[in-house]
Amino acid sequence: MIRLAIAGAAGRMGCQLIRAAGRADGVAVSAAVERAAHPALGKDAGAVAGGADLGVALSAEAGGDFDLMLDFTTPAATLDHLGTCRRLGRGMVIGTTGLGEDGEAAVRAAAADIPLIMAANTSVGVNLCLALVETAAAALGSMADVEIVEAHHRHKVDAPSGTALALGRAAAGALGADLATDGVFTRHGHTGPRAHRSIGFSTVRGGDLAGEHTVLFIGDGERIEITHRATDRRIFADGAIKAAKWLAGRPPGAYTMRDVLGLNINVGGGNAQRQLR
Ligand code: NAD
Repeated sequence: MIRLAIAGAAGRMGCQLIRAAGRADGVAVSAAVERAAHPALGKDAGAVAGGADLGVALSAEAGGDFDLMLDFTTPAATLDHLGTCRRLGRGMVIGTTGLGEDGEAAVRAAAADIPLIMAANTSVGVNLCLALVETAAAALGSMADVEIVEAHHRHKVDAPSGTALALGRAAAGALGADLATDGVFTRHGHTGPRAHRSIGFSTVRGGDLAGEHTVLFIGDGERIEITHRATDRRIFADGAIKAAKWLAGRPPGAYTMRDVLGLNINVGGGNAQRQLR
């Protein structure tokens, strides 16, 4: 049985993770961590997630009673937990977004000591979309302009979403572009014509949207759209549990959801790597 620590256990994703662990074989929640002074501290993790008691109380400290931590919290909390897991030699599945370059570098550095998966989106469907976007971008090359539109609930604090950035990186990598220089994150006023090779991002926020992403490949006379719509957050939690089961017992290293899902194949069967023009 793989013992899981759920960080951010009272949060939207934390509760989903606790419920997803209950649905899965071979895993059990053995620790539940929340921020100091959270009103749910001391309560049972199962009850907080809306289910039966698990005999695991929410605590402000991770302790050592777990094999792997699943962390969907805030960047500061994730980096704090990263230090704990590195010290204890425990693996992590990190779903927190908005870590920034320094945070991501810290995660990569920790992968020298512990097995890690950092994924802006842990759903199977989005990870398939990442592979499809890479394939489409490699095949279309300069034939199409790439634009990414994402929509999320009103509580989301970072923009564009980590998933939109991951989709943008997938396209950029295949096009030989770089989001740092080619990403366009705002347009307002006299913008001038669209720069060749730029990858544009548009953000929508409102209501209870669980997350929608569309990558548009806009050419002259045709348009391809690759869309993923999440209608239930359980897809992220189920994917994260799948990742934890795959990660358990692996040597230290930075792994990806594509490793977990076996999507590190060339979806285009080889042809996609050749640009059409
Ligand atoms: P949320 O605000 O509902 O939950 C975050 C929880 O973390 C809160 O309960 C908060 O109290 C807790 N927290 C804060 N500091 C903490 C600390 N030091 N120790 C322990 N817990 C702490 O947010 P959410 O919607 O659950 O999203 C959390 C993160 O996961 C965000 O970064 C979001 O973008 C990301 N997310 C990722 C995916 C994915 O598939 N990877 C899916 C959904 C959300």
